[in-house]
Parts: sequence; C-alpha cells; structure tokens
Amino acid sequence: MGAGDKGDGETIGRDEEVLRAICDVSNEGIMIHDGGVILSCNAALGVMFGYEPESLKGRSVLELAAPDYQDFVRANYESKLPLTYLVWGTRSNGTRFRAEIRARTLSAPSGELRVAVIRDLSGSDAAAGERATTVSLLRATLDSTTDGILVVDIAGLVTLYNERFLKLWKIPIDKMAAATDVDAMKFVAQQLIDPASFFSRVSALYHAPETESIDTLEFTDGRLVERYSRPQRIGDRIIGRVWSFRDVTAQRRAEHTLELAVQMRDEFLGIASHELFTPITSLAVAIRGLRDSTDATTDEALRTRLFRNAERQVARLARLVQELLDVTRIDGGRMGLIIDDVDLCEVARDVLERFAPELQRDQIEAHLSADQPVVGRWDRTRLEQVATNLVGNAIKFGRGRPIHLTVSLVDGRGELAVRDQGIGIAHDQQTLIFERFQRAVSSRHFAGLGLGLYITRQIVESHGGTLRLQSVEGEGSSFTVRLPMCVPGEVRP
Ligand code: ADP
Repeated sequence: MGAGDKGDGETIGRDEEVLRAICDVSNEGIMIHDGGVILSCNAALGVMFGYEPESLKGRSVLELAAPDYQDFVRANYESKLPLTYLVWGTRSNGTRFRAEIRARTLSAPSGELRVAVIRDLSGSDAAAGERATTVSLLRATLDSTTDGILVVDIAGLVTLYNERFLKLWKIPIDKMAAATDVDAMKFVAQQLIDPASFFSRVSALYHAPETESIDTLEFTDGRLVERYSRPQRIGDRIIGRVWSFRDVTAQRRAEHTLELAVQMRDEFLGIASHELFTPITSLAVAIRGLRDSTDATTDEALRTRLFRNAERQVARLARLVQELLDVTRIDGGRMGLIIDDVDLCEVARDVLERFAPELQRDQIEAHLSADQPVVGRWDRTRLEQVATNLVGNAIKFGRGRPIHLTVSLVDGRGELAVRDQGIGIAHDQQTLIFERFQRAVSSRHFAGLGLGLYITRQIVESHGGTLRLQSVEGEGSSFTVRLPMCVPGEVRP
C-alpha cells in the first residue's frame, strides 16, 4: 500500500513496514481512496473482487459496487462519517456478493482520505444458511420423535426440550420458560410413585457426568416411562446432559399379556395332553379286556361292561376334540348357526335323557320344571351343546346332590336355568371361568379343558342372549341362559 505517500507522514512513515504486513495478512479487503479514486489496496481486496491489486489503483470505488448501490456508496463516503454498512459488490466476472463496509475519513496534510475495510459476507451467509437448515432439521426431528427430550447445560439450565417432553410430564409451557432442571424436577417428581429414588438417581448422575443411565419410572397414574440419560459433549468436553423419556406402558402391557398367553398355552398343553390321554388309556384297557374275553367262558355281563366303557371313552374323546374344534371355529369367527323352530323344553328333556345312565350310576336326582313349550328360532344342536355343558358341570361339580333344570318364558324371552348344590365358585373366579382355558379347580381333582363355559357363552351370545351365573362357594351354582325368541337379524318366515 502506498498510503504513506499521502498520509500522516510521521506515523505511517515509522510503521509503514508493520502496517504493510498487517494489510497483507488480513483476510479483509482494505483500501484508501480519495473522493472515490482508489489510491491503494491490499492483496485480499484484489482477490475478493477478482483484480490484480495494482490494476485497481486510479479506478473509482464505484466500479466495485453493484450498479444499484453506487449512489448509496457515494453518499456514504461524501458524508465523511465513520460508517459501517452493507452493500452488494460486483466482482470482475460480474457476479454480485454481499459485503460489509466499515469506513472512516482521515485528515492528511494533503487533504482528506477515506479508509475502507470490506468483508465478504457471501461465505458467512452460506454458513449461516447451513446453520439455520441444521437447526430447523434438528427442531423438526425433535418435534417428530415419540420420545420426550430434555437437554440441560452443565450449570443445570434447560437448553432444549421438545413438545413430547412437556406432554409426557404434563408441564405447562410457562413453567419451562427460564426453568432450571431443579424447577422442572420438582414439578415432575410429584407425579411419580417413588420420587425419592428419582431424585437420588438424578443427583448420582450429576456427580458422575460421564455416566450413561437407563431406568424405568413408575407414574402414579399407572404409566411406565423409560428414562435414558447421557452426557452432551463437544469433542471431549462435557457441556451438559441429554435426557430422553419414552412411554413404554403399552409395550410393557403387551409383553406381560404375551407372557401370560405363553404361560397359559403351556398350561393348556399340559392339561390337554392329560385329558386326551386318560380316555385313550381307558380305551386301551377296555380293548385288551375284550380281546382276552373272546373264549366262551367269559361272562356276557363283563363283555357288555367293557363295550360300554369303550363307547364312553370314545364319546369323551370325541367331546374333547369337538371342544377344541369349536374354539378354533369361534376364534376364526366361523360358528355359523342353523336356525329352526326349537322347543327349549325338548332340548332340556333330551339332554337329561342322554345323561340318564350317568345320573343313574352316580345316583344323582335330576328334576326338570317346564310348564309350557318355549319355542324360538334357534340352532337346536348348539343349544343342546349349551345344556350338555351346563348339566355336565352340574354333575361334575355337584357333589352328588340333586340338580334342577327350569325352562320358562320370562319377559318374552326363553330361559333355561341349571342349578346344582355342589362346590360353588369363589366370587373372584366368577368372571374368569368364562374365559378360554380358565378353571377354578385343580385338574388333579376334576377333568376338563376349561373350554365348556367359554364355548357355551359364545353360543348364547351368538343367539343374542345372555349367560348369567349366581354362585356361593360351598353351596352351589346356578347358570341361567336367556335367549330372544329369534336370533337378531333373522327374519321370521
Ligand atoms: P371344564 O371343562 O374345566 O369344566 P368349563 O369351562 O366348563 O371347563 O368350566 C370352567 C371352570 O368353571 C371349571 O373348571 C370349574 O372350576 C368351574 N365350574 C363350571 N361349572 C361349575 C359348577 N356347576 N360348579 C362349580 N364350578 C363350576
């Protein structure tokens, strides 16, 4: 630069070498002009505008400004005020770029000179743009994640959080403004079952900033939230801590349900194999007996007994397999009904007749009260199955005491009640036993798959009816089926 030629001779002359060096290493463009005529400039200015610095000497500063900014630039230097302002510059190849100008006027013996320092903002614009894009991406990511996020700096001040975080902890937005982690924690701790362990965990983590942690918080409203925490770093330096919170209530419940289902399936397989195996064993014994009794010496009565037993075991096997098939059909929504005119009294009578040998053998009294025919549009086979299940259970759990069946018309509905005076059902089991595979008794004492009542209820409900239980443990049970006179949706012919 040749500013020393015209400037304050004493200062510039003394430090000219130093100043020249400073100007040469500067990234910013530096120029001295006199009324808009460039006297001197540094290398950075030449690079910025795309000229050889020497070639700029004697040219007008206005040539470096975009045409629409030239009047503005002229007005600024003519004002002689110290100014900092933004303009659009023009490079030698015609491209425009954003520039910041800082200028002031110096008084020199030969007149007034203007010194201008020019900074190319195009690079920093791009960087700022990039930063803005990154920030907006981060914001969008934070707001779209299903996790609640909280970032706290090393001093405990909240630096960032997302909407999900506020929702999860039910924090009103005004509570978060200028909040510290302590404020936030006080607000949230009251929602936890065990706030003390929450606080001690947090304080342990603040004393060990390096540590990552994961644990589960139990909320008083039943929610389970997984809390994950790790330090926030820049390079190796820890500058804060990131907390993320995930509501895992549904997931944990599903896992629990799945565990129960697997456990139930295993139990069921155990019971089912036992249940199927018992009649097979009896059947094998009966067949062996029959094979050994082919000679003429064998008592005819014994042969008849063996036959009857074999038949009973086959019937039992068929019933078990039928139950399994029914459950599969119900689960697949394939239990179609074959509707016809059916008298509920006849159904009850037929079923009791079928149980006659068993009732006789165990000397159990069975009474049927049916004053008048109760005819509805129902599926006869399915209703026989309902009555069979209920009477079968009354015999099985009835301790040999009398059984009562009642068929009647109540409020325009057909009703079948089966009452026994047996072991009864504990109150807390009374809903459960209608579920699949659920039993209120040990399989060691009573045979069964725990499917009969489930199937019974499905049949009754598919007729639009209800199945009600009244029972006192140790005193007996009464199951009541109520059916509308025709299946909903079925039009009477
Ligand atoms: P299961 O084939 O095991 O009898 P059910 O579905 O018919 O299956 O019955 C489920 C459970 O309900 C039985 O295991 C028993 O604990 C209880 N239960 C059903 N009927 C009676 C009854 N009349 N008296 C006492 N308990 C009963």
